[in-house]
Amino acid sequence: MSPKEFFIPWRHGTIYYDEFTRSARFQAAAVDLSKMPFSSTVTNPLRLIHRFQPLCLALFLHNRCNLDCRYCYAKPRTKLSCHKRLDPRVITTPAEWPARNARQQNQPLHILYHGGGEPLLEPDLIRACDEEIEQVCIKHRISQCRHLTTNGVINPETTRWASVFFHTITLSYDLTPEVHNRNRPSLGHRQTSVHVLKTADILRDTSATPPPELRIRATVTADDVEQMEPAVGFLHTRLPGIKHIQFEPVYLDHSSPYRHYPARFVQSFIRSHKLGKRLGMDISYAGARITQRHDRFCPIKQSNLSLTPDAFYTACFLSTENQFDSDKALLFGDYDQPDMPKLNRLLNTLEQDAPHCQDCFNRSHCARGCPNVCPVRMDYLETSEAYDCSIERWIGFYLICDRAGIDISTAELENMEQTFPPRPHKSRSRS
Ligand code: SF4
Ligand code: SF4
Repeated sequence: MSPKEFFIPWRHGTIYYDEFTRSARFQAAAVDLSKMPFSSTVTNPLRLIHRFQPLCLALFLHNRCNLDCRYCYAKPRTKLSCHKRLDPRVITTPAEWPARNARQQNQPLHILYHGGGEPLLEPDLIRACDEEIEQVCIKHRISQCRHLTTNGVINPETTRWASVFFHTITLSYDLTPEVHNRNRPSLGHRQTSVHVLKTADILRDTSATPPPELRIRATVTADDVEQMEPAVGFLHTRLPGIKHIQFEPVYLDHSSPYRHYPARFVQSFIRSHKLGKRLGMDISYAGARITQRHDRFCPIKQSNLSLTPDAFYTACFLSTENQFDSDKALLFGDYDQPDMPKLNRLLNTLEQDAPHCQDCFNRSHCARGCPNVCPVRMDYLETSEAYDCSIERWIGFYLICDRAGIDISTAELENMEQTFPPRPHKSRSRS
């Protein structure tokens, strides 16, 4: 896929959007699309899709968790899990791969601690992994950058340690105290909002210089669509200094009714984004990320080498052990023997695009319905055709408008279908 510049008809003019530079501009004169030859133009010779050259090692440490989230996609399988815990002694070989790339590109090695469980339940395991990784970094004369995702229900001592140890920390907090308490109770059915906010206070009050970059990740369910704007206001007041909030669609919930009311979701997101802008905050939506070149969530598409607790390489954030048949298709070898032919087959399969995505202005930023639509796990063409991508398309287009300096009026916002043409409307690429 080569980068293109897109022409998007808008009001009485045209938005020009260059997906390579991610710049957008508006010109009042309309382009006569019928007179343009529309085969694709290469605006930059660099290809967007490259060979897998990981710069990050992501470690799924274990699948233990102290929460009982309402929408957890890992929960149904946890009882059947093999309950492995990553053995730090196996990490050197996987770390070598991204470390070599990091050295060649003069970059730090990124290490991401996350998982189907809560990483900070085992700080000793993190420290043991880090000792192994540090040896690899010393050998290659590179530094490392440590990243963490956490549910924030952690004891203060471990939290203080984490505030010094990690460079970026993504904390899961669902929108407002009421929503968070409903969606993310503890295993003992206790409310957790107060605990998570206290954890955020400790992380912000750290002695580390510079302090870790703190980001909030909020899952939006059908019941909470209207809470995005209040969440931005609440978090700005309660946690001053927080700059990044990312909204995530709830995963693998095929019955979720919010998909049937995409305008409601998008209107709410846009209101939250506008408020965030006024408050100096960066508000994003995981399914359409205009600030990054990002499509499906597959780690292997994000230069990210992921290791499961039982030490297998995985191409998918949902497949975290070599236990279930459905997961085996997404694993590509164990820690000391990556299956390169299978990795290449997976990369090729994951490059597939539905016909309606191939010429879409949002194609460099859109998650394409992942994980509900997946070229490896299901009949891709059938599911992608049935998938209504209005949310991704509209949010992507709104963010391009924002880049072009176009403000969406309240009237336009309330009239979503006319404001943002739904599929099968096609943008056109310059030839
Ligand atoms: S569900 Fe499919 S598309 Fe999504 S991350 Fe996993 S492998 Fe990639
Ligand atoms: S917005 Fe729709 S058509 Fe465009 S890339 Fe995403 S899924 Fe494909």
